[in-house]
Amino acid sequence: MAIYKSGQRRADGYDTHTHLNDDTFWHDVPAYFGRATEFSIVEMNIVGYDAQSNERAIQLAHEFEGMHAVIGWQPEDILEMNDEKLAAFRKQLQDDTVIGVGETGLDYYWDDNPSAAEQKKAFIQQLTLAHEFNLPVTVHTRSAMADTYQALKDAHVEEFGGVMHSFTGTPEEAKQFLDLGMYISFSGIATFKNAKDVQETLKSVPLDRLLVETDAPYLAPTPMRGKANEPMYVHYIIDYIAELLGKSYDEVAEMTTNNARRLWHLDQAK
Ligand SMILES: [Zn+2]
Repeated sequence: MAIYKSGQRRADGYDTHTHLNDDTFWHDVPAYFGRATEFSIVEMNIVGYDAQSNERAIQLAHEFEGMHAVIGWQPEDILEMNDEKLAAFRKQLQDDTVIGVGETGLDYYWDDNPSAAEQKKAFIQQLTLAHEFNLPVTVHTRSAMADTYQALKDAHVEEFGGVMHSFTGTPEEAKQFLDLGMYISFSGIATFKNAKDVQETLKSVPLDRLLVETDAPYLAPTPMRGKANEPMYVHYIIDYIAELLGKSYDEVAEMTTNNARRLWHLDQAK
């Protein structure tokens, strides 16, 4: 339990998906991390998406206690993934700060993304590595729910675990992923006034499978919507969920932190 800035004690929070490895934050990581810890957000996954951001994620996780590296290739960058980079990636997966694979997944929303076939190939390749190294997978999906589900099911994700990050699907879709043993993570999108459907989904997720994330620098939560997002704002998401579920801030912080530590095997020595 850390001391909250106002003097109030708050349970430790865990931002399970943030990009302090992004250029937006890279110039001043200690300040962003310091602000987060003032709000008792003391643990976070630094999530990579290409060669440079993966390297930076590992660097930060070595430098800051409370930061963990999750490394992968997002759909729009998979064409860069040649044999040489793949070999380097395999090596990085064995670093002791790396707790998961991602973000990876399928994104059919953007017309200029690689083809569905190319995306599936890279996604399956990363799922295979996650399985081989027994690392949970952080999954991005957009306009590709059915194919994402099929790939995870075929890869036997239940054997190595995973999370659907910044989830915006229906309760029925969430249930499909839950049935594969996966966790569901909600970002600031869940706090938006017009996101009633996402809030319905959130309420349907079992409490022991629920995670929170900022996905900073993208999509700041209410009341910071439209402003620059950063990891400390995960406290607004925890607050919002507490109100939605009729629980206290501390209950939701503790629950989501425990869930994250369970999924990423942080209570066991690596
Ligand atoms: Zn992300």
